[in-house]
Parts: sequence; C-alpha cells; structure tokens
Amino acid sequence: MKPLEVLNDKFTNTDKNRRDFHQVANQKIAHAKQHHHRIGLLLINLDNFQSININYGQSIGDKLLLETHERLASCLSAEDFISRIDGDEFVIILGNITTAKEAQAAIRKLLKCFKIKYSLDGTSARIHASIGAAYYPHAGKDSHALLESVAICMLHAKSLGGNNCQHYSEKLRKKHQKESYLENALKFALENKELFLTYQPIFNLPTKEMVGMEALLRWRHPILGLVPPDVFIGLAEKNGLIATIGEWALQVVCKQAKEWYNTGYNHFKISFNISSNQLLQKSFPQKMMTTFKDTLIPSHLLDIELTETAFLTHASYFETILKKMAKTGIGITIDDFGTGHSSLLRLKNLPIRALKIDKSFVLNITPHSFNAIIVNSLINLGGKLGLNVIAEGIETNADLQFLINNGCLQGQGYYLCKPLNAKQMTTFLKKNKK
Ligand code: C2E
Ligand code: CA
Ligand code: CA
Repeated sequence: MKPLEVLNDKFTNTDKNRRDFHQVANQKIAHAKQHHHRIGLLLINLDNFQSININYGQSIGDKLLLETHERLASCLSAEDFISRIDGDEFVIILGNITTAKEAQAAIRKLLKCFKIKYSLDGTSARIHASIGAAYYPHAGKDSHALLESVAICMLHAKSLGGNNCQHYSEKLRKKHQKESYLENALKFALENKELFLTYQPIFNLPTKEMVGMEALLRWRHPILGLVPPDVFIGLAEKNGLIATIGEWALQVVCKQAKEWYNTGYNHFKISFNISSNQLLQKSFPQKMMTTFKDTLIPSHLLDIELTETAFLTHASYFETILKKMAKTGIGITIDDFGTGHSSLLRLKNLPIRALKIDKSFVLNITPHSFNAIIVNSLINLGGKLGLNVIAEGIETNADLQFLINNGCLQGQGYYLCKPLNAKQMTTFLKKNKK
C-alpha cells in the first residue's frame, strides 16, 4: 500500500484544503445572503483514530481516511463540498439548506456512513465519529466564525464520549467561552497566589477524636470568587496544568504538615488527592519523594487518595508505582469508592490502606434506602478486606448515627467540621488538644 502523499496530493495537502474551504464557504455565504437561504456546516472528527494508526500501522490508517472521504462524498449533492482539513478531520458544507428538516435529513444520511464496518487488514471494525453541526447565518457570518462554531460543537461531541452529533447553540458557545476564560485565568492563578489549601478533619466516629485530615485545593479568582475544584481541576487535567499545580500543592501540604508535626500535632495523617494524570507522569513519584525528603516529613503521616477509575487504564503501571510508594510508608486510599468501575480482583493486588465512601451515597441517608444498602455493603466489604473505611459527606446527626450503627469507624463531613484554612486549622488543633 502506498502512503497517502503518493495516492492523492489533493487529499493530503490539508493547509491548501483549509484555504480552499474558506474560499468556497465565503462564496456560498455571499450567495446565501443574496437569496436568503441557509448553509449547513459539519465538522467530522474520527474517534480514537490514533489507536488505529498505532495498532494497524499508518498505511491502514491512510486507507481508512480515504475510504471515509469517499463514503461521505457519495452522500453529497452538487452544491455541497467536502474537504479533509486536518489529520482525521473532514469539513462538509451543505450548500443549499432551506429548512432545519432538510439539514437533519442530510446529517442522518452522512451518519449512516459510519454504520458500515471498515475492513482493516483482514479484520472488520466499526469506526465512530464526533460531529459538530452549525448553520449560516445563525452560528456565524463568515467562514472563520462558522468554522469556530462548528469546532465548539465537535469538541462538545467528543467530550460526551464521541459517536454523536452536536448542534450549535448560543448556550454551548457561552459554556465554551467560560471554560476558555477559566482555562486561561488558571494559567496565572499560581503566580498570582490565587490558589490555597484547606484541610477537613477526619474523625473516629464513635469517639469523635480527630484521626486525620484531607487537604483540599481552593482557587479564589479576583472577579469570579471561589471557583469549585470540581470545575478547575477538570480543566487543569485537560490542559496539563495539573502537574505544576499538583506539585505546588504537595509542597504546601508537606510544609504545613511538618509545621504542625513540629508543634506536637503528630498523631494524625494528612490525605492528599492525586489525579491519575499526575501519576501517569513518569517523574511524579520521584518528585514526591524529593518533597518528603526536603520537608523532612515522615512519609507514614501522608496518605494519597486516588479514584478507582484511575486504575481502569494503565492498571499494571499504577500497580508498580503504587507498590513502590507504599514501601516508603505512604498510605493509599481509594477515593469515591463505589462510583467508578473498580475491579475487586485488581484492587486486591494493590497496597491499599483505606476505602473512602463517596458523599453521594452518604448525604441524607435513610434506613432501608438503596444508599443505605450500598453503604452498609461497602463498610462490610472494606472491613472483610482488612481496610479502613472512611465515609465522606456526613451532614446530619442522622447520617452520623447510621454510619456508627453500621460499623463505620471513620468519617468527615460538614456536620462534624467544614474544610478550614491553615490558620483556622491551627486554632482548631489548639482547641482540641488533649
Ligand atoms: P473529593 O476528594 O471527593 O473531596 C471531598 C469533597 O467533599 C470536598 O469537596 C469536600 O469539601 C466535600 N465535602 C466534605 N464534607 C461534605 C459534606 O458534609 N457535604 C458536602 N456536600 N460536601 C462535603 P471539594 O473540596 O469541593 O473538592 C471536590 C473534588 O475536587 C474532590 O473531591 C477532589 O476530587 C478534587 N480535589 C480537591 N482538591 C484536590 C487536589 O489538591 N488535587 C486533586 N487532584 N483533586 C482535588
Ligand atoms: Ca478525596
Ligand atoms: Ca468523594
């Protein structure tokens, strides 16, 4: 099989294809403006194309791209236009659309192309795509504005797991703009000293004695105020900033832990959340050890919290580094237990010290409810495996009593104590000193 370059220069010269697209689109826009009709724009990006190249080789990948182009082109009419404008990305102009119904029908026809299996080196496989759809004049007045709108839709389709088509709306654009704004602002959050850590105590539930605390990252943006970690951590993971932010946070936590340790508060552990992206960075475990060494913090005082979903991918790699970490005395807790897809068999091989039951199961738990059954089962499972079980999200005395009655020994929640900044935590520790 010849490489694409030899096969078809028109197909491979994506820079030229992009220029051609803008030219054709603007011509069609001018025509549409005159005749008051609409134009449909579709952006089609194949899902997991990279893995086809890796698993089958580039020439099979090239063949698949050509075949996709042919399949899509065969569904189009004379007024339409198709071009490959990037690696596995195709743009289609539906040249003459008068009603939304017409556009939907054209899209349905194109989607059918992906229902047919592809033959890849003797094996047949289904290929899916993430598709964005936008219309002139609603989504943009020129080719650049339209392409930007349709790219937002395609990226949204990707973020929903691929294999779907998303249509343009103002709401979607606003969401995207907000995310881009936050993503940009987050790049400066560290140097502008907008990030800080809070610490939420973890208690022995029957005795109310504090046994640990969880470090939780906060971002106070000068205009937006406190941005929830659920929002900005996702963004930091997406753009890779989590590595820098995570390293900084770990240093702050270790320094703070050492300060408390030196003033005599040495009977509790500090838990620290780590995202799987951080662990995937080969240099991370070493950096972590260096931080412990530099801050002279005994590693058995630290616990890292990882969600079970982290183990789904790269399981054996995680197993190796977690075993290395555990050898140094660091504890490992499975966070949000019960919400992901853990394999108990896999967990059995990991050096885990504790399971954390996610707050979604604990909040306002009522006896005999579905959540009550889950929580009770998780407590029993953890106990039988010889693990510490920690409940999260205890908001009422009823939650607390349910957990105690069902044998859960440790927990955290607003009912017991909200996350505190370092200064507040020092006061809290002083007040509770025996
Ligand atoms: P998580 O690890 O499940 O953390 C527990 C969350 O539950 C925290 O939310 C905590 O403030 C909240 N919480 C504690 N008690 C209660 C309660 O009684 N009721 C309710 N409704 N919530 C309670 P937070 O601080 O907003 O953190 C959200 C998530 O952000 C964390 O979930 C964790 O996944 C992530 N996160 C926070 N800090 C870090 C960090 O330093 N690194 C990484 N990678 N992720 C972090
Ligand atoms: Ca956690
Ligand atoms: Ca949780």
